[in-house]
Amino acid sequence: MSLTMTIDGAKHSGHYRVVCECGGVWTGEGEPIGAVNWSPALPVAEAVVHMKMGHEGGYVDLRMTERFREWLISYWERASLRQANAAWKRSGTPTAGVQR
Ligand SMILES: [Zn+2]
Repeated sequence: MSLTMTIDGAKHSGHYRVVCECGGVWTGEGEPIGAVNWSPALPVAEAVVHMKMGHEGGYVDLRMTERFREWLISYWERASLRQANAAWKRSGTPTAGVQR
């Protein structure tokens, strides 16, 4: 059995909404990672859990709205910068290819 699940969310507010074809709908707020930033990981994890526990053995087509995609991309860009900065602080030398 195949079901469609859609994740929507905005990086500027951290609010998200997940809609499953089964009628399940839930909303939430991403984990804060700074004063004005939220992690987009929670709705993805919740969608996977819903799929595994609510539709065992089924196939779920996970979709993301364009603005949730933008949130993911901006999160990954920031995460890469945080890791590069942490590596730089540890080693005392700039990481190759990372701009200051
Ligand atoms: Zn469902």
